[in-house]
Amino acid sequence: MRILVVEDEDALADVISIKLGTQKYEVDTCFNGEDGLYNALTNVYDLIILDIMLPKVNGLEILKEIKEHDISAKVIMLTAKSELEDKLKGFDLGADDYVTKPFHIEELIARVNAQLRGIGKVKDILEYSDLSLNIRTSILTCKNTNETINIPYREFLLLEYFIKNKEQIISKEQIYDKVWGLESDYESNNLEAYLSFLRKKIKIIGSKVNIKAVRNLGYKMEG
Ligand code: CA
Repeated sequence: MRILVVEDEDALADVISIKLGTQKYEVDTCFNGEDGLYNALTNVYDLIILDIMLPKVNGLEILKEIKEHDISAKVIMLTAKSELEDKLKGFDLGADDYVTKPFHIEELIARVNAQLRGIGKVKDILEYSDLSLNIRTSILTCKNTNETINIPYREFLLLEYFIKNKEQIISKEQIYDKVWGLESDYESNNLEAYLSFLRKKIKIIGSKVNIKAVRNLGYKMEG
């Protein structure tokens, strides 16, 4: 699941993004309204966390644009205590929820989870062939052997992406985009190494699933 965070306070934006990342969400972060609006309109997100007071384009203007473009992402607004009027305007414009600053990060996470659960998008288990991946705990189970193994963050993102696109050829570019996203630095990401770690873990628990290299095209999960 993909979330866009639009917040101009760098430190707060980072805390939110990192915390959401540990919850297995894919996160893009924008530090001003213009970038936020551009991303909201050009990418597909399940949820957008939107600060109201933003440089260039404010949160309410972004919200209005999102709704006018029929973007279906859930929207949680971040507001200061003094912005009651803005808060009400936000609901008028179709915001799904709001959190008043200062807030505990856990509260925001709970509200994000609640919004995504509400639309049935939070699914705890992803399955393919004899594999079962718990996205809350990062535990991968082979249903035939009942063996389990913990999957570290980067490999988890890889595996999740492969399961969601099972039996399809996925290009390296698509993987970089999904797994490394905006922090993408092609040279330094050793995709082959991560894939090899992941293949080993799948093998260790006795699964028949394999991630095959498809010459010149990319990779494909089969099992
Ligand atoms: Ca702000």
